[in-house]
Amino acid sequence: MKPISLDQPWGRGFNATHTHAFADDKAPLTTNFLPRGLGRSYGDVCVNDGATLLHTFRRNRLLAFDDTHGVLTCEAGASLADIAQVMLPRGWFLPVVPGTRFITVGGAIANDVHGKNHHISGTFGRFVKSCLLYRSDWRSAETVASSDAMFPSVIGGLGLSGLINEATLQLKAVPGPGIEQETKLFGGDGSIDDYLALDAQSSAWEYTVGWIDTLDRGLRGVFFRGKHTDGPDQWLAPNAAHLTMPMDAPEWVLGRASAKAFNAAYYRAQSLRSAKRETIPLWQFFFPLDAVNAWNRAYGKRGFIQYQFVVPTAAARETVPRILTHLREANVASYLAVIKTFGDLASPGVLSFPMPGTTVALDIPAPKLHDLRALDRADAMVADVGGRVYPAKDARMSAGMFQRFFPQWRALEATRDPAISSSFWRRVTASEDTSE
Ligand SMILES: Cc1cc2nc3c(=O)[nH]c(=O)nc-3n(C[C@H](O)[C@H](O)[C@H](O)COP(=O)(O)OP(=O)(O)OC[C@H]3O[C@@H](n4cnc5c(N)ncnc54)[C@H](O)[C@@H]3O)c2cc1C
Repeated sequence: MKPISLDQPWGRGFNATHTHAFADDKAPLTTNFLPRGLGRSYGDVCVNDGATLLHTFRRNRLLAFDDTHGVLTCEAGASLADIAQVMLPRGWFLPVVPGTRFITVGGAIANDVHGKNHHISGTFGRFVKSCLLYRSDWRSAETVASSDAMFPSVIGGLGLSGLINEATLQLKAVPGPGIEQETKLFGGDGSIDDYLALDAQSSAWEYTVGWIDTLDRGLRGVFFRGKHTDGPDQWLAPNAAHLTMPMDAPEWVLGRASAKAFNAAYYRAQSLRSAKRETIPLWQFFFPLDAVNAWNRAYGKRGFIQYQFVVPTAAARETVPRILTHLREANVASYLAVIKTFGDLASPGVLSFPMPGTTVALDIPAPKLHDLRALDRADAMVADVGGRVYPAKDARMSAGMFQRFFPQWRALEATRDPAISSSFWRRVTASEDTSE
């Protein structure tokens, strides 16, 4: 599998200039470089403007598999799609998947990604048994096991602690390629109480997630819960994207009015399925957006950003509606917003994003100055209650805010490979936050 763009992140919106190197060339790299997976991070965490990107997508072999215990060793450029395609017919699946299967194992580890089962399984990093890590001189390949002191800097290490060359992962046994899904409508009263109640009643379901209409005053939404089940054989093969976004959408279609209409139409369509139980292919449940290749072009040439924040459990009920109301009143157009409750399983990475609480992710097309100001104010609301914003999705938070969200960032800086850097890291560490 190849990245859609070698230079841009998923949100586009950047014109970075890179030189390109490939991990399979094994040439020593001693100047400023950054390991890169499939570039599915929305912002500059996978960008190294003016320097080198070290691409890993050609190192994608599955190396060994213990069929009895479900333990897989693979090269870090293998995608989750590659792994699932081979492992599902054998009854094994990835323990944690994000909303796209087109990411690499290296990318999943470096951002310690989460999925719809965080309340039961925690993050991807919890299933990494060990990594083979190369520091920049290429001589010191080091196996880093989950009990090693270096492990937290590799998991959620944003690629800064070295090139993950191979990883050994614990997969999970599944009964088949289906998901039993139940859909329920929630909200309408401007609070997230209904959502929280549904979520609390769903702890026995392995996967839970909500879609929320942030442009609707009532904050109406649709709650999805699912569990693995069997399904027909044809569901085993991933339905490779059969549609491709042929061009960049023109900017005039991307305003608040279109976003409102889009959200209303989606809500209407989902109401028809409400309270229904159905069995659907696993791909459709986890990765609906993967059905359209290069769907990020739907946001036009100027791209989009994703704003994902989490606030602690005690603050969620009050703070989530406050932030969403603030963004709506500031006229920030959001097309797709997802709400999810994180559980209390500790994440193993030094900069892992999840914490026990509620997270919301909003896609915002081509943010203008007033959108950015509104997001800065939202950052402050998140910080005030002890929450944080997700680096994997970010392209804009200030150095001061980042350091408030992740006061432990210096621990990652201390173990950073001196030859590795990213546009994100330079941006968020450019000045020290002295406000404490
Ligand atoms: C549609 C969509 C849905 C998403 N849903 C979710 C979600 O539900 N949950 C979630 O957590 N995330 C989600 N994401 C974000 C995505 O999972 C992460 O950004 C992921 O890290 C991207 O992996 P990648 O292989 O594309 O890596 P890249 O984006 O190329 O790189 C990500 C980071 O990993 C580092 N890296 C990559 N490979 C290596 C390596 N071999 N060694 C060391 N460092 C490396 C890079 O330096 C960079 O810091 C979503 C993204 C999209 C596009």
